[in-house]
Amino acid sequence: MDFDYDLFVIGAGSGGVRAARMAAGFGARVAIAEERYLGGTCVNVGCVPKKLFSYAAHVAGDIRNARSFGFTADNLRFDWPTLRDNKTREIERLNGVYGNILSGANVEIIRGHAALGGPQQVVINQQTFRCKHILLAVGGWPFIPEIPGREHAISSNEIFYLDKLPETAVVVGGGYIACEFASILNGLGVKTTQLYRRQLFLRGFDEEVRQILAEEMQREGVDIRFESNVSRIDSEGDGYRLTLDDGSTIETGLVLYATGRKPLLEGLGLDTVNVALDDKGFIAVNDKFETSEPGIYALGDVTGGIELTPVALAEGMTLAANLYNGEQRSVDYSNIATAIFSHPNVATVGLSEEEALSRYSKIKVFTSRFRHLKHTLGDHQGKVFLKLLVDAQSDRVVGAHMLGDEAAEVIQGIAIAIKMGATKADFDATIGIHPSVAEEFVTMRSVTRERVEA
Ligand code: NDP
Repeated sequence: MDFDYDLFVIGAGSGGVRAARMAAGFGARVAIAEERYLGGTCVNVGCVPKKLFSYAAHVAGDIRNARSFGFTADNLRFDWPTLRDNKTREIERLNGVYGNILSGANVEIIRGHAALGGPQQVVINQQTFRCKHILLAVGGWPFIPEIPGREHAISSNEIFYLDKLPETAVVVGGGYIACEFASILNGLGVKTTQLYRRQLFLRGFDEEVRQILAEEMQREGVDIRFESNVSRIDSEGDGYRLTLDDGSTIETGLVLYATGRKPLLEGLGLDTVNVALDDKGFIAVNDKFETSEPGIYALGDVTGGIELTPVALAEGMTLAANLYNGEQRSVDYSNIATAIFSHPNVATVGLSEEEALSRYSKIKVFTSRFRHLKHTLGDHQGKVFLKLLVDAQSDRVVGAHMLGDEAAEVIQGIAIAIKMGATKADFDATIGIHPSVAEEFVTMRSVTRERVEA
């Protein structure tokens, strides 16, 4: 059978673009379809613009701290449209870079909504293409629960383009996006309330880190309310009134929902093929990214695995190498470092204390919490927190956590050591860089606590 393409990728986000480029590099004839923006969530309404906003929010703290170093910056003003538009200009530049990278790699970019038209068939702009392999890399979309007035809430898609910054905001949710945007809005001067339905946010992360983050975010000024559930949202004047389950109300200028993301399957033509979904509604794949329909693959957020850009990139490279370079690779999902760009930042690699305890019979926990040297001249009382988890039997470091400035930059290095199987003795044998926060990771000598399996 003659095919128009060896690989047709639907979705030009992190995973799709990487798979397309690599496949073309191995000599495959590749097309990629995109109906929105090149670069997907990460570049357009995720990681990149979020980090730019996070830097902006940090600037406010730095300026406050500047006084303790003798600088005065009176009449300080923040202009939201400047930040928003500079950000948008940079994102548009990146969209162009993605286009050039794809074209330069000989990938054909087709703009429009692509759908499956049956096995080995993609329909786009009323044209049908026959494709040997099809990759579904369509990603996810914010999910806002069905409550009365949900139309008044915005998601992470809209927050990047607000006409004006409100004086007050409520952020609903307790995951990455909620913690990051509660911190960003607060840092930019918006009086911010964060509502989370259970006892403590960031479920699944190390409990001690979650508790300390809640304390530190509160110290920074975020009004965090746990065990709070919104039952309805009403528009009122220029703003909104939220009614909570306990009957109390909150008036606010903006309601941001960050309550998770769902796979973007609508209009994808899944009814024309035999692609099975998992019990959460994501596309089910095996470790070779094969769906239940031969020749159709899926990776990245649409598969509901670890929803992180570097994971999608690794998956895209692996698939391309396996299909077009005769390799037999698989992705190793262990010890993936990750960061929450809350204020303060949190970064982590390996196991939480709770996970370590469930996996090893005895663990040693090393912790350190102290005031950053940078803040000792001023009145900022925030503290950094570092934590190492060690399997007592093998001496291997099985988890590292940090809460504080540039935690992601520090943990990325530690992640290499942990990936290589470093022991606590290896950490101890490493000479620190002084004075730094990170040196504490190699100077934590006394055990904070030892814990044995219950
Ligand atoms: P998450 O899945 O991380 O968090 C969703 C949050 O919403 C949870 O706290 C969840 O509570 C809560 N929630 C879910 N449903 C409801 C509901 N019906 N009512 C009230 N609360 C609800 O999703 P995010 O949207 O924050 O982010 C999506 C993914 O994107 C992340 O998991 C992460 O993988 C990725 N991401 C990564 C970032 C980074 O690397 N820095 C930044 C941003 C996103 P509960 O705990 O009770 O389930």
